[in-house]
Amino acid sequence: MATLCNFVDNQAVPASNNETLDVTSPHTGQTIAQVPLSSSSDVDTAVAAAAKAWPAWAALTVNARSAKLMALHGLLTEHTGELVDLIASEHGKTRAEALGDVGKGLETLAYAAGAGALGAGQATYVSGGVLCRMDRAALGVVASIVPFNFPFMVPFWTLPLALAMGNTCVLKPSEKVPLTMARVAELAASLLPPGVLNLVHGGGAVAQALIDHPSVAAVTFVGSSPVAEAVHARATARGKRVLALGGAKNHLVALPDCDLEMTARDIVASFAGCAGQRCMAASVLLVVGEQPALIARVVELARALVPGSDGPLAMGPVIDAAAVTRIAAAVRGAAESGAEVLLDGHGPATAFAVRQAESGGFWVGPSVILHRSPKDSALHEEIFGPVLSVLHCADAQEALAIENASAFGNAACVYTASGAAAEFFAQRFAAAMIGVNVGVPVPREPFSFGGCKRSRFGSSDITGDAAIEFFSTRRKITTKWSVPADQTWMS
Ligand code: NAD
Repeated sequence: MATLCNFVDNQAVPASNNETLDVTSPHTGQTIAQVPLSSSSDVDTAVAAAAKAWPAWAALTVNARSAKLMALHGLLTEHTGELVDLIASEHGKTRAEALGDVGKGLETLAYAAGAGALGAGQATYVSGGVLCRMDRAALGVVASIVPFNFPFMVPFWTLPLALAMGNTCVLKPSEKVPLTMARVAELAASLLPPGVLNLVHGGGAVAQALIDHPSVAAVTFVGSSPVAEAVHARATARGKRVLALGGAKNHLVALPDCDLEMTARDIVASFAGCAGQRCMAASVLLVVGEQPALIARVVELARALVPGSDGPLAMGPVIDAAAVTRIAAAVRGAAESGAEVLLDGHGPATAFAVRQAESGGFWVGPSVILHRSPKDSALHEEIFGPVLSVLHCADAQEALAIENASAFGNAACVYTASGAAAEFFAQRFAAAMIGVNVGVPVPREPFSFGGCKRSRFGSSDITGDAAIEFFSTRRKITTKWSVPADQTWMS
């Protein structure tokens, strides 16, 4: 069984200790690789390589760095099939979802390759003979700590723009899905100078060693809210620039005038796509007024999903046995507190249960729960699986109040045929990424990705125009060479 290596200075480097974790196939429960739990001295080695590479990388023109990123885009595009295979095998996504993971990551890479224009400075005469200009200086070494749910796309929220702006990077992939980015690091080694992109495997201890390292200037984190909050506090206490994206509990509001078929299909795609393991996945459906036909259609479409890796109705497994247990407990807990389980993804007779028993993998079908009490914990806590909680609301105001009270603020969506109603919700949702008839409202480049409340700790977004600001320092240079005779430098 292969044990992965760290990747430092464009070379595979074994971790210095023998501690490892199994990387498990969600399809079968079988071990497919071993990932090292690297030591703090491995972190030191990777950060030292990144720090050493930084001055020369930062000294390149932005166009020279962009050219390397464009070449990387070409190389990774050529290897898309291989990356899709890796994502599907270590994460369990269907092939279409894995292709989306790679495609969205490549979009951020293409955007970052335009950093020459996007990150350009400004210059203006501010008084007689005095020119003030602003350019952007790189920060130094950026550490990127990422979750399991998008093995390629989420690392690519940080790396392209951080590199384009002249920083060097140390990535800690999720220990649950380390294979995809290990292969990306190998491929990138043929194009990027040594030390520019490094990778250290491990879990929380490696992440903490990275955050604490005095040569790390900035930290990006994506993961669950309790860890995001702790990472933000830890990095801030050490004077680092930090952005930590956390978990979510996304609300969808279905108004009585919504298009039934389009809405039902969109809701199912949102809550069951990627087996519910998206931070933008629908979690709570607030049905305004009586809409039994909509709820029935959602259940019907969800019931039609089948366990698998390919095809329009396929839904993949969840990441591990702990996820199966957590999801089952959430559905059982809701039933015990009086909710009606309209569709039980754990029902013994479902195709998912059969697949789980036969394969030893982590197969869980979609669940739809009709709640009677707004206090049910399934309505408030992140489950991170294919579970939709449905709650009736008397009117739009009640739906809005429930959404606004959520501790999280990642995404929210309204389904309606009315522009005025859509605008009413778009202006009042307490989330930062809002959909109108779009249940996974991911803002694509140049728009930036990031939530609010407990979905984001730190003030920046992680991609797009906002991230240019995060990955650079505005340097203001004021210059006077001569003063026109009719002016003073004070004029
Ligand atoms: P997680 O919080 O368990 O792990 C995320 C990363 O943190 C991993 O690399 C892990 O090794 C590391 N880590 C674990 N303990 C740590 C510690 N004490 N200090 C520092 N780092 C530590 O999250 P996960 O289960 O991998 O991913 C799912 C979560 O990520 C969900 O909550 C989901 O909503 C969230 N997520 C959020 C976004 C977003 O944009 N807001 C995007 C994707 C995923």
